[in-house]
Amino acid sequence: MSAPLDPTPQRDVSKLRAELDELDARSLEFLARRRELVREVVRAKSADGKGVRDPLREEELLERLIELGREQGLDAHFVTKVFREIIADSVRLQVEDLQRAAAPDGATNGVFRVAYQGGAGAYSELAAKAHFSTRTERLVLQGFQSFAEAAREVEEARFDYAILPIENTTSGSINDVYDLLRSTSLSIVGEHRLKVEHCLISTKETPIEQITCISSHPQAILQCSDFLAHLVDTEIDAYHDTALAVEHIKGLDDPTHAAIASAAAARSNDLVILSRDIANEAENYTRFVVVAQEPEPLDPLVPARTSLVMSTGQKAGSLVEALLVFRDRGLALSKLENRPIPGRPFEEQFYVDFEGALSDAAVLGALEDLTRVTRYLKVLGSYPRCDHEPSRPSARVVSKLPSPTPEAVPAEEVETSTPPVVSKNSSGWRLASREHKANDTTIQVGDHVIGGDAPTLIAGPCAVESAEQINICARIVKEAGAQILRGGVFKPRTSPYSFQGLGYEGLDLLVEAGRDHDLPIITEVLAPEDVEPVAARVDVLQIGARNMQNFTLLKKVGAVDRPVMLKRGLMASIEELLQAAEYILSHGNQQVFLCERGIRTFETATRNTLDLGAIPILRNLTHLPVIVDPSHAAGRRDLVPPLVRAASAIGAQGIMVEIHPKPEEALSDGPQALRFPVFQELAREFFQS
Ligand code: PEP
Ligand code: MN
Repeated sequence: MSAPLDPTPQRDVSKLRAELDELDARSLEFLARRRELVREVVRAKSADGKGVRDPLREEELLERLIELGREQGLDAHFVTKVFREIIADSVRLQVEDLQRAAAPDGATNGVFRVAYQGGAGAYSELAAKAHFSTRTERLVLQGFQSFAEAAREVEEARFDYAILPIENTTSGSINDVYDLLRSTSLSIVGEHRLKVEHCLISTKETPIEQITCISSHPQAILQCSDFLAHLVDTEIDAYHDTALAVEHIKGLDDPTHAAIASAAAARSNDLVILSRDIANEAENYTRFVVVAQEPEPLDPLVPARTSLVMSTGQKAGSLVEALLVFRDRGLALSKLENRPIPGRPFEEQFYVDFEGALSDAAVLGALEDLTRVTRYLKVLGSYPRCDHEPSRPSARVVSKLPSPTPEAVPAEEVETSTPPVVSKNSSGWRLASREHKANDTTIQVGDHVIGGDAPTLIAGPCAVESAEQINICARIVKEAGAQILRGGVFKPRTSPYSFQGLGYEGLDLLVEAGRDHDLPIITEVLAPEDVEPVAARVDVLQIGARNMQNFTLLKKVGAVDRPVMLKRGLMASIEELLQAAEYILSHGNQQVFLCERGIRTFETATRNTLDLGAIPILRNLTHLPVIVDPSHAAGRRDLVPPLVRAASAIGAQGIMVEIHPKPEEALSDGPQALRFPVFQELAREFFQS
């Protein structure tokens, strides 16, 4: 009755299949040959300095293929789809070849070790295998309980890399990893995007309705919420890792207790998959970052991404200002994420990913610009991008970076390693200079702004000696209207036999006195290893005169997000002081203020000679706030009030003085400590003038 569907004479199916097989085999040969040519192209590009991506050429190529395809009866969509895949493969291949040449594998004895969080079959393990699949050395993979443990293995050089999940397209950011990146010294050297296919897994074939409990990681549970919504009476058991959840249900051996994890996790544990692809979104991806102890060189032709952490001020619009830097430099942002700062409620740090490498002039320029509008900056790394934009046949968009700014440094001078986050320059203190930033820097400390409208008064004892002593000082300081309480706990004494300070016990007392009297606190750090723990507890870090050129210490305070008071060295010139400040600024921390505290001269009537002339000179040269410490300059209390007057008159934006309830009993610097009544009178005068 019905007409035949195909009027052409029937041909033998097996012959047709043979012909298809033959064509497929030849297509593969063509693809393999195409790859060889692509590799030759990359060698040529490498020689002539052209980038891996040539959007114009890709666009033309696709347009030409679409035309050719039309002539052969192939529709444009099909041709685009197939060739996008082929072009993407070419890009991957070229990136790999260039990177291999730029950063040869550093494996020892033909083995390299990668740490991850989770058990066998964890998504991190799958990502590691895929990411390192082209490396020729033997890959040793090991799972650890936590992200922090995996990172520590790399920090302590037992592993070469750690791979850490950072965001998922369905459930969002993995905050623990963001917080970890902020606190480690590791560099991001790579990224990987893994398609995540969640499966429901059990020990035996079981009807889904009979499942009473499901164990998995909360992220996986979130990503499968639609599927789980149908299982009304099923209990959800949050587990710290998908693969470990599978090991857990295997141990229970209860077929009604299932887990959500990868098919690989089911396979590694010999368990049964009850249902595949149960995530809400069919396209469910997790992005991983690969971290190493040191940054790895990046071939300039490889499309790169850079990640950084920054803190902006609390001023309205400060985040916008920072974001405009990326726009103005033509750098596409791919991620902006905020995280709270531990110990500082309602303040935020921002994680930014953008396209470009640290060796690009535009990126260097942006980092310099950011130092003007942020108070803290930490570059986490530049690394080859894994999400190459697909080629497009139409839309002639050619991304063009602005030409390098005149100040930008040639690429070969740029350190791609750990900070300095910005370029070097000839003057040696460019970031500190008014040329770099014309407006005065202001530094928020608690409710007070250093360098703002009100002058700053910092006061307290030379050293914290006892709870009683620091508490009474704190009360007097607060009542006098001073904004910051000082107290040394690590004392840099000229003689090793002098009182060395109470150390961390003294810090506890200072923190408590500050808290009880609602006063921000400042204390000096002497050792690089004390910087982080002390920064976590105080409002301002002090670098003392004797350490002004302790460069290790300066770099360390440059890497924390805490204001720093940098005192001028005993024998340091103004320019050396600015260069010391530059160490801190160039390592990311923009919250630096300077303190003139007297320099050594032949004069013996005073402990040091207060260099008053340095104040207007500094105010002119630098945007950083400048304060004066007359106590250490004079070494005698009678000279403190007149020197405070002189300092204020000549433009100091603040004063730091030492006080003591009983100066004659002070364990250090008694002769220069003000008695309370004199201090109270001085504070009154200081705020009135
Ligand atoms: C101090 O302020 O505690 C101190 C030791 O000062 P300086 O580093 O200026 O000697
Ligand atoms: Mn002192």
